[in-house]
Amino acid sequence: MKILVVGRGGREHSIIKKLKENPQLDKIYVAPGNAGMEEEAECVPIDEMNIEELAAFAKEAAIDLTVVGPENPLNAGITNRFQQENLAVFAPTQEAAWLEGSKSFAKDFMKKYDIPTASYGVFQDAEEAKKRIAETGAPIVIKADGLAAGKGVIVAMTEEEAVQAIDDMLVDKAFDQAGSTVVIEEYLEGAEFSLMAFVHEDKVYPMMAARDHKRAFDHDEGPNTGGMGAFAPIPDLRAEDYQFAVEQILEKTAAGMLEEGRPFTGILYAGLMMTEKGPKVIEFNTRFGDPETQVVLPLLKNDLLQVLQDVLAKKNPHLEWHKEACVGVVLASEGYPGAYNKGNELPQFEDTEDTYIIHAGTKKADGKLVNDGGRVLLIGGRADTLSQAAEKVYQQLDKAELNGNFFYRSDIAK
Ligand code: AMP
Repeated sequence: MKILVVGRGGREHSIIKKLKENPQLDKIYVAPGNAGMEEEAECVPIDEMNIEELAAFAKEAAIDLTVVGPENPLNAGITNRFQQENLAVFAPTQEAAWLEGSKSFAKDFMKKYDIPTASYGVFQDAEEAKKRIAETGAPIVIKADGLAAGKGVIVAMTEEEAVQAIDDMLVDKAFDQAGSTVVIEEYLEGAEFSLMAFVHEDKVYPMMAARDHKRAFDHDEGPNTGGMGAFAPIPDLRAEDYQFAVEQILEKTAAGMLEEGRPFTGILYAGLMMTEKGPKVIEFNTRFGDPETQVVLPLLKNDLLQVLQDVLAKKNPHLEWHKEACVGVVLASEGYPGAYNKGNELPQFEDTEDTYIIHAGTKKADGKLVNDGGRVLLIGGRADTLSQAAEKVYQQLDKAELNGNFFYRSDIAK
């Protein structure tokens, strides 16, 4: 078996580590990958959006299966293009990835199939949108319709903030086309969790639920980021709520997409709010979550490559989970999610039996590993309990010399 993973972040590094457990794997390539993956996979210098070159490479290298990490190539139709060339892909088509690519599509879809979510309206006209804000009041949530790298959501605690978000998106076009339509949504209260599943058309195989920490600083303060850490499992999630989310959200979504003529294959990710009335959808992603994947995959007992092959063959992969806990803490560049300096040497971390290191924004310069992105590394830990896993991670991080170039949250999973 020869595998190609598309992407360059922590999520893809984690997928590669897990795929490598398969003894039948001859070769694993990653495009474009990052410095930390070089020992585990062959990095191919093709950008994840260069779909033509990726398809040509996959044909030439006789790749048996491609796994796509990020959302942008999915929305640009990488799966459709590979399928035209008879290349096997574990990822949704452009039509199915629209569930993440357009929030208004996702909301209309959920309404049609009676999938629990916040009430909403869709607007292109700024005055109409402001009228809705005045009628509803704050708190209220404003979302750019299209892909905005996790930055297109404003949780407005006041009407002024909400109006400002409308001006930014619809008048000043802060997100270009992605923000030329906005969704205005009811504010939901509760604890969040993420639920991912392997999906092939009407078959849904759910994973363990996880929780990520999106805010930059301790106590959930500061701006939203791509995610500063995550943990699994979630002790406060009741079995019946998990089951409700699987049946009423994931399975209904897969069935609905099939009915819409947009059959879904790949990873379906639901970002959920545990409200007083049960779990409700905040967003759908059509790929593995980052950083949730980095704490969920290590707890999967099954061989991931076998799981992907089984799912594609409509065979039940019989997912099994280690009865342990995983915690992952992100080391970020000082200043992230705002401006930050690149090219600083990374602190050294020891490899231990219970901790692991996942690379994201790293590269090699003059033989040294340096930062090349906002989120740099994730230090993961595995143990019997969440608090033990967190302790192992922080033992590593607290020893690291950050030299004012890096920071991390000290309260992940605590
Ligand atoms: P998203 O990119 O859609 O996941 O939104 C980013 C974050 O905004 C979520 O993780 C939530 O914390 C928050 N959020 C999004 N939608 C809502 C909502 N309807 N009510 C409350 N918070 C929300």
